[in-house]
Amino acid sequence: MVVHMRHTRAHTANRRSHHALKGARFVACKDCGAQHLMHRVCLQCGKYRGRLVIDVLKKKVKATKKAEARKDAKKEVAKVEAKEKKEKETKKK
Ligand SMILES: [Zn+2]
Repeated sequence: MVVHMRHTRAHTANRRSHHALKGARFVACKDCGAQHLMHRVCLQCGKYRGRLVIDVLKKKVKATKKAEARKDAKKEVAKVEAKEKKEKETKKK
């Protein structure tokens, strides 16, 4: 496709004058006072318009359990790697 008409810089700038991004709109939660996005659930208390939508405590417990499991897995990997290193060193001798 061929551009038919030349756009002046002013025309381009005028068109782009509406392209700026606007900042996110935050409001205070009515229940806990924390800042959260408009028309979204408060992630601090899990409520939307006074109604409990997310069980925040349950989610936190699950997240901590997952983090602990990840830590344990990392430790085990480190142990296995250390063992393999030792075996390699003994084989060299
Ligand atoms: Zn809240």
